[in-house]
Amino acid sequence: MKLLEEKILQEGVVYPGKVLKVGSFLNHQIDVPFMSKLAEEFYRLFEEDPVTKVLTVETSGIAVGYPVAERFGVPLLFAKKNRSANLANDCYSANVVSYTHGRSYDVVLERQFLTGEDTVLLVDDFLANGCALEGLIDLCGQAGARVVGAGIVIEKVFQEGGRKIRERGIRVESLARIVDMDPEGGITFAS
Ligand code: 5GP
Repeated sequence: MKLLEEKILQEGVVYPGKVLKVGSFLNHQIDVPFMSKLAEEFYRLFEEDPVTKVLTVETSGIAVGYPVAERFGVPLLFAKKNRSANLANDCYSANVVSYTHGRSYDVVLERQFLTGEDTVLLVDDFLANGCALEGLIDLCGQAGARVVGAGIVIEKVFQEGGRKIRERGIRVESLARIVDMDPEGGITFAS
């Protein structure tokens, strides 16, 4: 999505360790009208699918998922990050290794909100090693819900997540695909 690539080039900052900061519109301050444009594009890509829920993971995923769910006219569901081992048995849970924080945590979801009747569109802000997305797919598997695919704002193609998830036969649509980036050399998008 050209508009998104231009925004990343104008406002994104590349940190050592191949982390992209997009705090001005996605991860800290939210550019709400711009999020609606991204949602419109996700809707165009997945509108043929009978989506009943949009599922993401807190916190940054919520800003992406909210306008997408609104566009589909379905609830937005977000997995909660939970560092305690004491989980209520009315929850699904999956372990996720955080790329940006370098530690692992559980994501949990109350069973009542996701069932075998659901057809789910996953969304997230970034796709790096794929752990967050795998956690969400795991939660859907526990619920018996069908996953129609994943809508990602920024995929870091030089990390293995996209390939791993697509190899599982899951459709992944990323609006910006970064093939390389570094603080000096800048950001290169897939053509
Ligand atoms: P993964 O689980 O695919 O390795 O990483 C995805 C998650 O890590 C996303 O939900 C996102 O919050 C975070 N993340 C991964 N890479 C980046 C990055 O370069 N910049 C930012 N801001 N977040 C990232």
